[in-house]
Amino acid sequence: MQGKVLRAQNSFFYVATREGLVEAKLRGRLKKERIAVVPGDDVELELTEGGAGVIERRCERKSLLRRPLVANIDQVVLVFAAREPDINPVLIDRFLVLAEWSKIERIVLCINKMDLLEGDEAEIPALAALYREIGYPVCLLSTVTGEGVADMQSLVEEKTSVFAGSSGVGKSSLLNCLAPGIALSTGAVSEKIKRGRHTTRTAQLLPFAGGFLVDTPGFSATELAEIEPCALPGLFPEFRSFFGACRFQPCTHSHEPGCAVKEAVQAGRIEDSRYASYLEMLQQSVQRKKVYR
Ligand code: GDP
Ligand code: ZN
Repeated sequence: MQGKVLRAQNSFFYVATREGLVEAKLRGRLKKERIAVVPGDDVELELTEGGAGVIERRCERKSLLRRPLVANIDQVVLVFAAREPDINPVLIDRFLVLAEWSKIERIVLCINKMDLLEGDEAEIPALAALYREIGYPVCLLSTVTGEGVADMQSLVEEKTSVFAGSSGVGKSSLLNCLAPGIALSTGAVSEKIKRGRHTTRTAQLLPFAGGFLVDTPGFSATELAEIEPCALPGLFPEFRSFFGACRFQPCTHSHEPGCAVKEAVQAGRIEDSRYASYLEMLQQSVQRKKVYR
């Protein structure tokens, strides 16, 4: 029988199957071969007489997100607030870079609390236009007025979506708006399980609209530290078409003469704010390398 692992706890796996939720253990052979099974994995399992299951095989993975550990994700939804806290484009770019680095197929930007804006504020529409132009779907919404919630709903249908956002942006409210009652179970997701000196976050898939929602506390700054300076430009999708034309190869797109990326910024083909975010992340990344060398 086929199933999807929704949650892993100690050595138990909670697997959604057409017969319902099955509590399963791993076949010893898988453990011996060190085949890890994580939330999001599609598995084949045998049912034992008591109705429990034994996982016999892990199906091929489409993708693996490391933090939180989840397999087969279709998209990540980055949740921000327009106000309270005020939107911060540098933070948006950091989250985007981390999501790009994880090689997630689709990254959706969601800006919540739109109800807190005065009618004539141009900042958010301008940001939305900027990120849409780069190719990211942007969803403007309010869990208070319900604006945009239907759009969000259609974006997550039939897909496995990871929701990430700093606390206070309204992520729980959004999940609750999409699937009432879901926040009750999301509390368990962000709960930290202490194992020795390490703290691990376990993700949990919540079945929704033919797909799954995954709540996470978001990415952390320590992950940015793992990105090599030379990998950074590639994580800004709108920079990619310019690299090849830089006079120096490789080019850090910071101080070099004849840099096509810088020229694109001057020509208005790359947004100033994005280039500023790039330079800031580059500087931090280079500094870290110096410290650890
Ligand atoms: P989380 O920490 O991201 O899960 O955020 P919560 O869902 O707990 O929401 C944080 C605060 O923002 C709460 O006081 C919510 O009532 C409020 N909030 C959530 N969504 C909206 C919204 O669309 N508009 C406004 N004005 N407040 C919201
Ligand atoms: Zn360059």
